Amino acid sequence: AFGKKTKKYPANIISKIMITTKEPAKKSMYENVMEQFHKTADIMNLNPDIRKILSITNNEILVHFPVKMDNGQVEVFTGYRVQHNNALGPYKGGLRFHATMDIDDAKALAMWMTWKTSLAGLPYGGAKGGIQIDPRNYSNSELERITRRFTFALGDNIGPEFDIPAPDVNTNEQTMAWIADTFMSTKSPATRSNNKHVVTGKPVGSGGLEGRDRATGFGVYLTLKLLFESKNESLSGKKFIVQGFGNVGYWVSLFLEKEGALLLAVQDAHATIINEKGIAVNDLFEHSKPRKGSIQGFSGATEMEPKEFFALDCDFIIPAALGNQITAANAYDIKAKVIAEGANGPTDNEGERILLERGVTIIPDILCNSGGVIGSYFEWLQNRNGELWPLDEVMEKIEKKMTENYKKMQNVVNEKQVDWRTAAYILAISRIETAYVQRGIFP
Ligand code: GLU
Repeated sequence: AFGKKTKKYPANIISKIMITTKEPAKKSMYENVMEQFHKTADIMNLNPDIRKILSITNNEILVHFPVKMDNGQVEVFTGYRVQHNNALGPYKGGLRFHATMDIDDAKALAMWMTWKTSLAGLPYGGAKGGIQIDPRNYSNSELERITRRFTFALGDNIGPEFDIPAPDVNTNEQTMAWIADTFMSTKSPATRSNNKHVVTGKPVGSGGLEGRDRATGFGVYLTLKLLFESKNESLSGKKFIVQGFGNVGYWVSLFLEKEGALLLAVQDAHATIINEKGIAVNDLFEHSKPRKGSIQGFSGATEMEPKEFFALDCDFIIPAALGNQITAANAYDIKAKVIAEGANGPTDNEGERILLERGVTIIPDILCNSGGVIGSYFEWLQNRNGELWPLDEVMEKIEKKMTENYKKMQNVVNEKQVDWRTAAYILAISRIETAYVQRGIFP
C-alpha cells in the first residue's frame, strides 16, 4: 500500500529526512562488520583458513532490469543479492528497497545474516539483497512490476533449498507474495507447486506463518524482558524511545506497552514526536497506516527537534530503522542504560566503544532482532512439511529458542568477560568453524 507516485517532496520534509535518517556513511556498515569479525577472530584464535573464507562473500549478484512505469515510460533499476556463506545451510536473509542500498550494504548485511542464523542455531547461511529505490516514489502497481521483474532477473540464484529471501526495510508480506508467485509461475508445471518456501514472510493466506509479522518485534521485547529480569527489574514503568515505526518498531512498542512500559518518543524519516505521558501505540499505528507509514502530524504527541532524540532521558532505546544511527556524534549524549538493536547495524563501532566505556549494555542485533529469521525458519518448515501451525504454538516456539540463545550468550559474557556483541560473535563463528573443520574443503 504505497499509493500514488509523488515525484517531489516539500522542502521541509526533505530537510527532515536528511537530519533524522542521516545518510548512512557508505562503506561504513561493511567496515563495521569486518572489524567486528576480525576482532572476534583474534579473541577466539579462529583457524586462519576459515578466517580467509569468512572474511569474503561467496557470491555477489548485481542485476539491472527494465520496468514499464504507469506513464508508459521505461525505467531501469539496480538490484542486488549477496550470498555470504552457506556452510550451515541454504542462504537466508531479507530484501530491502531503499535509495541508499548498494553492494557494500548488501555485503555487510549478508555477513550479519550469516552470524545471526548461526547464533540462532538455524540450518541456514547468510544473504541479503534488495533494490536501490525509494518505494515512496512509485505506485503500487509499479512496485509490483518492479518486484516481479527483479525476481525474474534473479532467476535460479534464489530457490527454496538454495537462497530464501524475506522482508526487510520497506518490503513486506505483499512483496513476498509477488516474489513467490513470480518464482513459481516461471517454473515448469511439474516443479511449480511446491516452491512456496522460496521466500518467507508471506501473507498467512498464501503459505505465511501465523505470527511471522510480529516475530522480530516480539524477539526484541523478549531480550529486554530477559535482561531486566536478570537484574530483578520489571519492564513495567520503564520509559523507552523507538527509532523507526515500521514492522519492528510497531510490534516491539506494542508488546512493551502491554507490559506497562511507556513509549516516550518515536522518530522516523519524517518527524520526531514526544509525549511525556506516553504515546498510544495503536493510535500512532492507525495514524501512520494511511500515510505510507509516516508518524508526522500525530495528534497524540508533539514534534521535537530530531537532533535531541537519542539524548532523551529514558531507560532504553530501540533503534529499529537503518544502520549507523548511533555514532560518536551522539553516543556521549545518550542517557539510556540499554540499547536494544532492532535494526541491523544501528550502532557503529566508535559509538559502541563510547557506550561500553560509559557502562551501557547493547543487546546486539544478531541476537536482538533474530526473532524474525527464527519465525522465517518455522514458516519454511511449515511449507516444506505441508503443515499449518496456530499462533500460540509459533510464539511459544520463538520464545523458547530466543531464551535459549540469550542464555548461551549470557554464559559466554560471564565466562570470557567480553561485551555482549563479542560473545554473540564467538558463538556464531564457532559453530561455522566446527562445520568447516568437520567437513573439510572441497575437493
Ligand atoms: N530481514 C530480516 C533480518 O534482517 C529477516 C530475515 C529472514 O527472515 O530471513 O533478520
